[in-house]
Parts: sequence; structure tokens; C-alpha cells
Amino acid sequence: MQYRSFTKDKIQISALGFGCMRFPLLKGGTGEKPDEKEAVRMLRYAIDHGVNYIDTAAPYHGGESETVVGKALRDGYREKVILATKFPTWEPTAASELDPILERQLQKLGVDCLDVYLIHNIQKSLWKNVQKLKMIDWVEKKRQQGKLRYVGFSFHDDFDLFKTVLDCHDWDVCQIQYNYTGENVQAGTKGLNYAGQKGVSVVIMEPLFGGVLAKPPGLMGETIRKSGKNPVDLALRWLWDKPEVSVVLSGMSSMEQTVENVQIAGKSGVGTLSAEDRAVIEAAKAAYEKSSPVKCTKCKYCLPCPFEVDIPRNFEHYNNAFVLSENTKLCRILYSMLPEPHRAANCTECGACETKCPQHLPIRRHLKEVVSLLG
Ligand code: SF4
Ligand code: SF4
Repeated sequence: MQYRSFTKDKIQISALGFGCMRFPLLKGGTGEKPDEKEAVRMLRYAIDHGVNYIDTAAPYHGGESETVVGKALRDGYREKVILATKFPTWEPTAASELDPILERQLQKLGVDCLDVYLIHNIQKSLWKNVQKLKMIDWVEKKRQQGKLRYVGFSFHDDFDLFKTVLDCHDWDVCQIQYNYTGENVQAGTKGLNYAGQKGVSVVIMEPLFGGVLAKPPGLMGETIRKSGKNPVDLALRWLWDKPEVSVVLSGMSSMEQTVENVQIAGKSGVGTLSAEDRAVIEAAKAAYEKSSPVKCTKCKYCLPCPFEVDIPRNFEHYNNAFVLSENTKLCRILYSMLPEPHRAANCTECGACETKCPQHLPIRRHLKEVVSLLG
């Protein structure tokens, strides 16, 4: 494993962090119920092979991710890692609710204190709640009480708000969505560089853009295949090549992915991306821009829809229809396999989903496009 500097204390953390929002799901289970046994096995494999940064959050897996992480960190594993979780910014309506939420998280994780605590999913609407309930003063108080070691925020809005948030406090860490298809999305390259200048450690999420960059579709996939390069390796090493990046989180869903990511992280480092690698990435980016009209990361923040529309699945079919444009008939067949209540046609245009989408997608407009192409 390669290690990189983290926070002003310059502690050493692994280039690869284990993101705990996409654990394998329990077969025959309902909803987002994780396969706890397999998730614990994967987490411990990663830790045994040098991964020392574990990232979870209150809402992941319907609230069960923190519990699974707590179990994985028993038997001496807790001491081997930097444990990060996130405060559910949208949950409290009064300052008196802040302490009980943190206590609930500590209890689930089975720990007395957290190494990293991030105010989750800062975007314009939630930033108001952060200010109203004085959450930054509160996290600092909790730090003084010894419950938190480092504090920061995770972010899903534009660069201007990113700069405002970064400048308003002496943060240790910020977590941004970033990958080679999204240099100008949200905080973007500008945000990464700005945090780097200020000495704030940057944690990267969605490095594979919800798995799209691991199995790149259509022309993009063809471009990478022709080069003979591994798409996951390229996407992750593109990030690790940047000195401002501290840790890259991967939301691993299988033991196979865990083994592969650990191997790739072992040969990561600033300056390890060749001119040939860069050329392939540029070509893949151009192909991607051309072929996928809806930039959905499948994060599911928009769910549940009150009318049961499975928004990310509809977009997946829609994007596939573009990527496989020579075979729209096949796409219609695949779309028809989506249960009827979950199809785009059931959207009432209430708009509830759009305020929750970190990508700020015009979901209602895109759903209408799905209906007209596939419905
Ligand atoms: S706008 Fe449509 S998809 Fe979004 S929450 Fe409302 S009904 Fe569901
Ligand atoms: S539509 Fe937005 S919130 Fe919903 S899964 Fe896609 S990116 Fe996430």
C-alpha cells in the first residue's frame, strides 16, 4: 500500500479508502440490506492489506452501514484505522438534537470517539441548516470534549459555495466528488486546487463515477479497450497523480473489486501517470461526453420517490439506449423489464427529488425524455 499525508498533523493514510455505501447486498433481502458477513470479510481484507481509512455515514444502507463497520472494527481492527463518518445535516430541526445524533452514531460504530467527522452533503439548502443550528461551533465543542479528532465537510454544490464553506472555518478535511469525467462538476479541479492551497486535506468520492468508469460503456469502453489499459487503474491513478489528493474512496461491492483496488493502490503515486495514460483518458472523456446524456451517479439520494419512480434505474436504461444507439429495440425490452410502478411514466412532477440530487439534475425533464424514447 502507498500512504499519503493527511491533515496538518501529516499523519499517514492509505491512498485507498474503503467507502461503505455500496456493500454487497443480502440475497433475498429487501431494499439496501447489506450482506454483513461478506462486508466484514472485505473490510478486514482491505485493512489486513494496508487500507487504514474507512468512510461511512449515517444514511448509508438505510442506516446499517455504521453498524456493519462497527462489527468489522472489533477484534483489534479499530486501532488500525482512521474512522470517518458523517453528521446527517438534514436530520436535526433544533440544536438540542445534535448531541443525541452523534451519540447514536458512536453507539452503532461501537467507539468512544471518531477520527474524522464530516458535516454531510453540504449544498445550498442544507448549508442553511448548518448555519441555523450552528453546527460548526457544535463540532468544535465536541472536538474539545474529545469525541472528534478532525472535522470537515462533504460537498455537493458549485465552486462558489465550496469556496464560501472552505473559507468560513479552519477545517481539517473536505470531501468532494471528483473523477476524470467531472473536472468542471461541483467543486471540480478548481476546488481541489483551492483546498490544496489552503492546506485542507481532500478526500475524493465517486472516483469511478458510480461504477461507470469501471465498465465504461459504448465508445468510451471501446477507446479504453483498444489501448489495452485497465479502466479502473486509469481512473484511480489519474486521481493519485495529483498531490492535492489525500485519499481516494472506493465504494467496494465485492471481494474481487476490493482485491483489485488494493493492488492498484499499491502502485499509485504522484507523477506515475504516463503521457500515454493521459492521452487515453482524454480520448475516453471525449467519448463519454458524446454518449451519455444524463450524468447520474446512481447515488440514490433522490429516493424514495413518493410515487415509487426508480429514478436512477430509468436513467441507466436511458443512457444505455444512447450508448447502444444501434440497438434501441433491445433497450426498450430491457426497460420493459423494470416493474411498471417504477417507470418514468409515473412521475407526477412533484419536484421532491430535484432538491435532493447532488448533481442538480433536471430529473423531471429527463424522466419525460425517458418516456418519449423508451416508454
Ligand atoms: S418529480 Fe417525479 S420522480 Fe421526482 S419525486 Fe416527484 S414524482 Fe418522483
Ligand atoms: S438522479 Fe441525482 S440523486 Fe438520483 S441517483 Fe442520480 S445523481 Fe443521485
